[in-house]
Amino acid sequence: MSKSYLSVHKLLHKLGHPAQGLYKPHKASGSEQIILYTEVTSYCNNKCVFCAIDKVKRKGFIKDEVREKVREFILSQPDIKFLVYFHLVGEPLLYNALDDYIRSLLLPNTELWVCTNGVLLTDDRVRKLRQAGLKNVWFSMFYTNNSDYKKYVRSDNFDSANKNLFNLLSNNKMFDKIRIVTFSENADAIKKAIENKNNVILQTSREKEEWDGESKRNFICISIDGEVCFDWRDYNLDNSIGNICQLDSDTVIREYNKLICASSK
Ligand code: SF4
Repeated sequence: MSKSYLSVHKLLHKLGHPAQGLYKPHKASGSEQIILYTEVTSYCNNKCVFCAIDKVKRKGFIKDEVREKVREFILSQPDIKFLVYFHLVGEPLLYNALDDYIRSLLLPNTELWVCTNGVLLTDDRVRKLRQAGLKNVWFSMFYTNNSDYKKYVRSDNFDSANKNLFNLLSNNKMFDKIRIVTFSENADAIKKAIENKNNVILQTSREKEEWDGESKRNFICISIDGEVCFDWRDYNLDNSIGNICQLDSDTVIREYNKLICASSK
């Protein structure tokens, strides 16, 4: 692994990526739970200093055939529970067909999460996502004050994101789980807003796990173009095992298990 790869990904780690600290690694074989990232766009409405989005070569939105293959892949493994994140890089709410994609992945063995920066998560969008069947939201409220947001997220979206966050919290009962991540140490307003809301978790920067770089590869990541890799930090999928449209499902699981076996030794 190159030095630049590591340093960029240390920065990405600061993002409080959905994978970080949420789920324990599972067993190499006979595992019943896999985190699956299905990226829906490489575009974003923010330009966070800690993000690799500018280095990502692919552009656009998820291809229809990739969507279909992701669904087929999940259906082919009924004994595995997939925690599905509509994310890898990019802001998923920019994808107009997200609601349809959510509907298509409402399967007996999935738990679906939309991971968003919240800028487009208006009240109307919240209701539409819920109607589509979404039950879990990961909200990255990177900073809780406008000046830090401007400086590190490099956009004027603080007010929109903040307003949408508090609206979401006031409608928390619509969802099974809401997870909020912020780097700001002062998240008092959010803490107050989530008092007695048992389905909401707040993760501040002080609670982040240390980077360890090697032991958290228990993910299947699929880019908008269908490339498959097992490490969300591999933002250009340089270590892709191939394209989901050409790979058969058992090969993906076999390669995944090989990697898990190797990293657990
Ligand atoms: S909001 Fe956009 S720029 Fe910021 S970390 Fe997420 S994908 Fe990257």
